Amino acid sequence: MSEVKETVLEIDFKALEHNYLYLRSKLLPKTKFLAVVKAFAYGSDAEKVALKLQSLGADYFAVAYVKEGIALRDAGITRPILVLHPQAVSFDTLIERCLEPSIYSRKILEAFLETAAKHEQKEYPVHLKFNTGLNRLGFGENDIDFIIGKLKGTDYLKALSIFSHLAASEDLNEKEFTKKQIDTFQKIASEIDKKLDHIPFKHLLNTSGIVNYPGAQHHMVRSGIGLYGYGNEAKIDAQLRPVVTLKTIISQIHKIKPGETVGYNRAYASDGYKISATLPLGHADGIGRQYGNGKTYVYVNGKKAPIIGNVCMDMIMIDVTNINCNEGDEVIVFGKGLSANDFAQTADTISYELLTGISQRVKRSFIE
Ligand SMILES: *Cc1c(COP(=O)(O)O)cnc(C)c1O
Repeated sequence: MSEVKETVLEIDFKALEHNYLYLRSKLLPKTKFLAVVKAFAYGSDAEKVALKLQSLGADYFAVAYVKEGIALRDAGITRPILVLHPQAVSFDTLIERCLEPSIYSRKILEAFLETAAKHEQKEYPVHLKFNTGLNRLGFGENDIDFIIGKLKGTDYLKALSIFSHLAASEDLNEKEFTKKQIDTFQKIASEIDKKLDHIPFKHLLNTSGIVNYPGAQHHMVRSGIGLYGYGNEAKIDAQLRPVVTLKTIISQIHKIKPGETVGYNRAYASDGYKISATLPLGHADGIGRQYGNGKTYVYVNGKKAPIIGNVCMDMIMIDVTNINCNEGDEVIVFGKGLSANDFAQTADTISYELLTGISQRVKRSFIE
């Protein structure tokens, strides 16, 4: 383990490779793999992570917004990039940077058609997104004839794929609902295939979909969280390796007398002789106030130290009364051996939110 001298998010490329190969091993060899690298590759480093995955053979990438796609192109990503939630104001740039839009509503289809015409594109690749139960983004079944009408009347763009997104692929209590989503998608796909004069490829599964519904892998899967080491269930987590580890150091140690308080609003009141340690990490770094006041632990020299008092913008204080430690010692917040899932659960949230919340202020370091 490397020694840290400040707060650092370590990104382990060996772990990333392991996770990629593990997820691939769950798929048929011919199934394409789209790596979801939105939100800075789930809070890690989108450019470096995408370059590594491109070198490993990932077929496709996805981001949420055009700006994220531009960063990947600037970094040297040459594979296709699907933009999951593009806004019409960025369609010009999207075309200039050869990004591929998700088209999810009549309004967005018309706006993109207009932009593709203005740029004199021929068969510009687009991906039709259908809502099969998540009720977030996507066309409905009753939009199919509208879409076909638009697509048949133009060669400015071409539906390269059709896709949908599962609402509860990680929850086996929702198996019936998920199966209905899978069936609805199949039905929409068949209808599109019949009505268009070419066959778009299909994709539906996210990470938990790969694990729980491999029969619905179609031509491609879209995986995010699994690449970063989390599978939404213990059995899968055991097969994956956390890619990021958040580490920090002890800045200062204080002796606290009975009746003294620690932190803003005097939220922690000591009932004895205690020792507190202050860490250079706060809610501006992504460790929010919900983790304070005894809810969550960090690890100092292998021992659990609870966060005490309110989380500050730039600092947290922890109770190290029973831990042998000094100023400058390393502290592990979560990561290798200390699941981000467990950390997140202490405050009723999920690894996705914790990981993507680690702010850009935190230095990234890389283990090749
Ligand atoms: C974020 C996202 C994914 C990735 O989901 P994971 O659970 O992280 O694998 C896949 N598809 C869509 C449409 C998404 O928005």
